[in-house]
Amino acid sequence: MPIDRPKPKTGAEKARLVKRRKPLRRAKAALSRPMRGRKVPGAIAATAALQQHDASFRLLFDSNPVPMIVCAQDTERIIAINDAAVAHYGYSRGDFEKLRISDIQAFEQLPPWRGDHSADEHAARTWKHVRADGSLIDVAIYARLLTFDDRAAVLLGLMDITERKRAEARLAFLAQHDALTGLPNRLLLHQRLDDLLAQTRRSGEKVAVLLLDLDNFKAINDTLGHAIGDKLLKGVTRRLRSSLREEDAVARLGSDEFAVVQAGVARPEDVSLLACRLIEILGEPYMLDGHSIVSGASIGIAMAPGDGDDAEKLLKNADMALSRAKSEAPGTFSFFEAEMDAQAQARRRIEADLRAAIEHDVLQPYYQPLVDLRSGRITGFETLVRWPDPARGMIPPGEFIPVAEETGLIHAIGSMILRRACMDAAQWPDGVRVAVNLSPLQFRIGNLLAVVMDALKTSGLPPKRLELEITETLLLDRSDHVLATLHALRALGVRISMDDFGTGYSSLSYLRSFPFDKIKIDQSFVRDLGSNHDAQAIVRSIISLGIGLGITITAEGVETEAELNCLRIEGCHEGQGYLFSRARPQAEIMKLLQAQRDARIVRVA
Ligand code: C2E
Ligand code: MG
Ligand code: MG
Repeated sequence: MPIDRPKPKTGAEKARLVKRRKPLRRAKAALSRPMRGRKVPGAIAATAALQQHDASFRLLFDSNPVPMIVCAQDTERIIAINDAAVAHYGYSRGDFEKLRISDIQAFEQLPPWRGDHSADEHAARTWKHVRADGSLIDVAIYARLLTFDDRAAVLLGLMDITERKRAEARLAFLAQHDALTGLPNRLLLHQRLDDLLAQTRRSGEKVAVLLLDLDNFKAINDTLGHAIGDKLLKGVTRRLRSSLREEDAVARLGSDEFAVVQAGVARPEDVSLLACRLIEILGEPYMLDGHSIVSGASIGIAMAPGDGDDAEKLLKNADMALSRAKSEAPGTFSFFEAEMDAQAQARRRIEADLRAAIEHDVLQPYYQPLVDLRSGRITGFETLVRWPDPARGMIPPGEFIPVAEETGLIHAIGSMILRRACMDAAQWPDGVRVAVNLSPLQFRIGNLLAVVMDALKTSGLPPKRLELEITETLLLDRSDHVLATLHALRALGVRISMDDFGTGYSSLSYLRSFPFDKIKIDQSFVRDLGSNHDAQAIVRSIISLGIGLGITITAEGVETEAELNCLRIEGCHEGQGYLFSRARPQAEIMKLLQAQRDARIVRVA
């Protein structure tokens, strides 16, 4: 209900107000005058009606659950209070009646019915009132002018909205802060950074954004549980807060990603110093629930002006610098360089071209022979995806598989290659297998099992002729889901190979967690076979491990006769490499297989 204006301005308004006041005024007059003992029956009836009207007003006022007060308009004194107001404000009735409205207002001097505000503005406004015990409450006020004891007065209904305000404030806080650490979130950081950048544009100061990522948070979270992960994030927050100045802002942007905004930077060395300090502080061990945990941090830095004029650009560039730091030397910091942006743009171009290539069915499976080192015969082929591009020639998978994994396009590529490989292999002689590489992402999301079953069914290829190559990274998290999928694939009759063995963690426990059919020794060990004794020892031990476990051992990247001899002497089962053949399209493979019928060893320069 909007508050009435203090004085009606037009004649019509005045008339309306007078009309409205009349019954009350009469009621008040009747109340203040003792009833005169007139004997006129009509007059007695009118007086009785007035008394009844007044009693109703009293009843409504006194017993109203909403705190209400009546103030005199001229003196602004409180002249009547209902029980709810006495209970809510805590002043005794006597004390209350000595107060002016401004005495219970915490900040404002003017009473709620004055001031140059529209009725709507008044209604929407929140007032701070002081209770007898000194506590402050938020109040919404509904006011109405009336005549009380023949005086111009205002009836105020006082709605306590303190709790609602608190809930609204909490919601507003949560919308802009991270619930776990209480730090500002990305939204608030954006706003603050943009404000700061607007200020520094005038002052000419530099601002640095340090984007910070914990180096092994995922592993800690996965192995020790989320409760410890949460405690670690809180610990990081405490350390960040204690090592920053008042004017430096800190925010949490994602699971283990934090941002620090360093204001008033004179030279880049100021930023390097801070980055070094943060890396050092965050690298100290944390004691969490009896565990001593070390989680280093990497930092990417972008500075304004120069690396961007707005929050979005600066954060994006700091992110690129962070990726560089993480990939090249985790636990260090890296400044943004324009050339990183060029790389990112090239990546975006690859993504767009790759989408088009998938849509137009440009990607092709090529096949590289796997040769039995004792008999020299081809036992199978590894499928390697090829992307022929009119302008760039054959784009190697190393350039686009990571982009496909980042963008999710790997699912489309993986299914297509698997389907094509099974169809092609179904045309090869019985007993010649086909190997297909799988990305860990195909296990994480999607329906890999159904995709494999479908490829086998449509091609008619017996499952025992299909080999799926996985890398050690897949087993890093060793989730139940991954192991269950691997077992289900093997139950179909499909063979499972461990690819690039020796380049990851090479944990022997991986070999125990799943019964692999084949281990492929990474080509980096084969490359060094002739010259490096360590490589020889490693290859020898992987081969004897395979023989002991009854697993086929394949050496990748065999390029020379010397390497081949060495592998033969060590008893390696299978070889793959340029010495035998590069990967070739299906048409050539058919000819190669035809040739195998006559020749004992297939070698193509
Ligand atoms: P990979 O599975 O280890 O495949 C072997 C790689 O070594 C192939 O590279 C192959 O051309 C190369 N190679 C074979 N013999 C020799 C040799 O004697 N010397 C040298 N220097 N290299 C040799 P490519 O085709 O560039 O593939 C690179 C990687 O891309 C593959 O490594 C595999 O991890 C991935 N990849 C290829 N095709 C697919 C695919 O269809 N799906 C998935 N998820 N990944 C694929
Ligand atoms: Mg492979
Ligand atoms: Mg490999």
